Amino acid sequence: MRRLAILVLALIVFLPARASSAATDNTAQLVPIWPDVTPIASYDIQVALDIDTKMVSGHETITYTNSTDTPIPDVVFHLYLNAFRDSTSSIFMQESGSLSRGYSFDPDYPGGIEITDIRLADGTTLELDLIEDETLAKAELPEPVAPGETLNLEVEFQSTLPKVFARTGFYKDFFMVGQWFPKLGVWQDGGWNAYPFHSNSEFFADFGNYDVAITLPDNYVTGATGLLASTKANNDGTQTVSYHAEAVIDFAWAASPNFKQATRDVGGLEVVYIYLPEHAFTIDRALDATEAAVTNFGAWYGAYPYPRLTVLDVPDEASGAGGMEYPMLVTAGLEDPTGLGLMKGQYDHMLEIVTIHEIGHEWWYAVVAFNEAEEPWLDEGITDYSTVRLMEKEYGPHEMLDMGSIKMSYLEARRMEYLMMPETPMYGKAWDFGTSDYGVGAYSKPVISLLTLEGVIGEERMLKVMSTFFERYRFKHPTTEDFRATAEEVSGQNLDWFFDGLVYGKEILNYSVSSVEEHRVTVTRQGSLIIPTEVQVTFADGSEALEAWDGSEAQKTFDYSDRPAVVRAEIDPDHKLLVDLQWSDNGLLRRMDVWSWLAINCQILYQIQNMLLGEGGL
Ligand SMILES: [Zn+2]
Repeated sequence: MRRLAILVLALIVFLPARASSAATDNTAQLVPIWPDVTPIASYDIQVALDIDTKMVSGHETITYTNSTDTPIPDVVFHLYLNAFRDSTSSIFMQESGSLSRGYSFDPDYPGGIEITDIRLADGTTLELDLIEDETLAKAELPEPVAPGETLNLEVEFQSTLPKVFARTGFYKDFFMVGQWFPKLGVWQDGGWNAYPFHSNSEFFADFGNYDVAITLPDNYVTGATGLLASTKANNDGTQTVSYHAEAVIDFAWAASPNFKQATRDVGGLEVVYIYLPEHAFTIDRALDATEAAVTNFGAWYGAYPYPRLTVLDVPDEASGAGGMEYPMLVTAGLEDPTGLGLMKGQYDHMLEIVTIHEIGHEWWYAVVAFNEAEEPWLDEGITDYSTVRLMEKEYGPHEMLDMGSIKMSYLEARRMEYLMMPETPMYGKAWDFGTSDYGVGAYSKPVISLLTLEGVIGEERMLKVMSTFFERYRFKHPTTEDFRATAEEVSGQNLDWFFDGLVYGKEILNYSVSSVEEHRVTVTRQGSLIIPTEVQVTFADGSEALEAWDGSEAQKTFDYSDRPAVVRAEIDPDHKLLVDLQWSDNGLLRRMDVWSWLAINCQILYQIQNMLLGEGGL
């Protein structure tokens, strides 16, 4: 179950691909359409992959424009790979116990990154200081970058890839190259928003354009963020592949001599599945899930704005690289959470869950671009809510697990996790959480809470909230309060119960029908969370009443002295409130003596007979 819980926390990513060792130049077809976004931090990178030393070395030119109204006196870089230099010294390793997503760090194959030279465009060398746990570095500038000015930096760097750990690294001849180059933080509110690499934390960056040229052996197939711009044979056993992307917040790539690719056109979008031969049986499943995600998320939220989407498979032994999102690229992979070899596609839909989840991130992580480090619930929560919705819509009732006596949907798994720790606030920085409450706070509770919000305001209005939010904040890094403002405006409701109670708060709720008397029904709220709901009352003559209750009082009694005897009452009969801690006490029958029971049932039988026969008889 622990492994299942870990997998349930899995992620999604897309990757663009290229043809294999072509000896001639090879240019992307048609003129791609990119989102119209003013770049802030753009990277022009030329590197070489050494498959023996597992090193990626080269040069980057950073073009950074100060779009704020304050002068910027220095630059701060993320050096994420320095989290993996050994198993104890980094914040990441101390927080994680050198475990990530169920996999152990192998100290025999560490990672790291070194900036060997940094200078301005005019050749002025900068002094670089490693700070915090050396997953950050800072350099003072001789002159501040004034508002509106552009800074050009020339950076030489060497990255060593670890054996696959925490999403990045190598396994034999497979390379997943993520968080691998010196990358600027985000200048906000007069300072650099850049934290050391924490174990729960994902990422935050400015939008920019990327041109990345990678030299590697000519038998390797690559996939990456962006579009393949060219492939050049170097006539020395190597090739140089060049990718281009616009309006993205990151760039990742993968390479293996074993990669194959399958493509599908989804409403004009080129979808590429890069897979390993041993997973060829997943081609249709991965592409079907991708098509469902692109089509439905596009309809629910707004169109995917990039010209390509790549889904990348990973080797079984490197599944720590699977389940991750990058711009225009997601990693998936098939895992068997039973550990028994039972879930290889016969019953489970783990591949679909992971693929759909990671593609969901394209809308929220890649385009809207939340600060994943400071507000992880927004990105993971909204993405996983999207995943649950789509799994419920597209796949069977037990789409996650069907092993005879054990059946479970992805939604049921998420609710089960929520019920284990319902008082976990959703809001918090990634490192405010431990491993298990991060899963609940960033994934399970947001899923259950957002579905509850949908139950309260209705599906149509919920999708209007989400599509308005997506449209309004594409490429703008919104916060929880931006989501609150949009949700309250579009729903037309005060949503304190959702934001103060569930997002920021620890409030919980159990609604129950506490008594059913002949002419009175009493309902009870336990816990301080207050959500409007309904009470359905059934009377002896078969008639029903549906009462609205705002839940504000801890207890409320409905009086039916002018109606037939009450038979039954149920609060939240459609289970719209998934945050309700216990559904078994939602409904209650009136206790009655045997004569009352017979009288009511005779009356009901009489009504059924009349209904069947009709007024005029047969
Ligand atoms: Zn995710």
